Amino acid sequence: MSAGSPAFASVGTPPVMLRLQGLAARYGAIEALRDVNLEVRAGEIVSLIGANGAGKSTTLMAISGIVRATAGTVEFDGRRINGERADRIVAAGLAQVPEGRRVFPRLTVRENLEMGAYLRSDDLGPDLSHVHELFPVLEDRAGQLAGTLSGGEQQMLAIGRALMSRPRLLMMDEPSMGIAPMLVARIFEAVKELNREGLTVLLVEQNARAALKLSHRAYVLETGRTTFSGPGAELLDDDRIRRAYLGEG
Ligand code: ATP
Repeated sequence: MSAGSPAFASVGTPPVMLRLQGLAARYGAIEALRDVNLEVRAGEIVSLIGANGAGKSTTLMAISGIVRATAGTVEFDGRRINGERADRIVAAGLAQVPEGRRVFPRLTVRENLEMGAYLRSDDLGPDLSHVHELFPVLEDRAGQLAGTLSGGEQQMLAIGRALMSRPRLLMMDEPSMGIAPMLVARIFEAVKELNREGLTVLLVEQNARAALKLSHRAYVLETGRTTFSGPGAELLDDDRIRRAYLGEG
């Protein structure tokens, strides 16, 4: 990944990288998404916040082709990708760090990272070095089975594995879940660092306060619909958001 200022800092409005319009999805009789509309511009960190069961994970899975959209569109770089195979979507530059980390517990840390690059046939060296710089513990424990890492270290590995596909847009599902606060801080710091290097990020978080602090913009999802959006700092100050999602007043 090349170092440099994010597109956000450049003159003019950066192009829309990801656009969801009227997205709907269901699990049998359960309508998980009804009308999701959002945009992520190149260079942004955008977060999606909402209560349990609002449809945050389903939104990410519908983008990455794991869950089929029943209505609406997902466009990446101006091209419609819903209906495409999940591996083609990864190859197009969109990677997901799944909820609950889901590393391969019986493979080593190094093998897990290599699995993230399974669509590539070029030299993995520079990307491995980049991941090791970001999370040195993954180099120290390269030969250790992933299942023996702590929750926070597994989250770092899951992020590293996603980075090995060389994404331009990284989607993260609840990276802070079940992780010691010190490691959560390190993980959010790494997300900022990656964004400074030019990576665009779509983040789903239960921890709305941390997500809003980190994000340029955010969307609120309520029972399968995006209802509210704005700059992260503005939503942090919004009374309704503070009451509903930040546990205040
Ligand atoms: P959480 O923060 O609890 O992960 P979420 O906002 O990510 O919640 P989703 O996991 O996307 O929400 O769930 C959206 C809705 O779809 C919920 O009503 C949930 O119960 C339902 N749902 C999710 N996964 C399945 C599934 N595999 N089968 C049936 N219903 C599901």
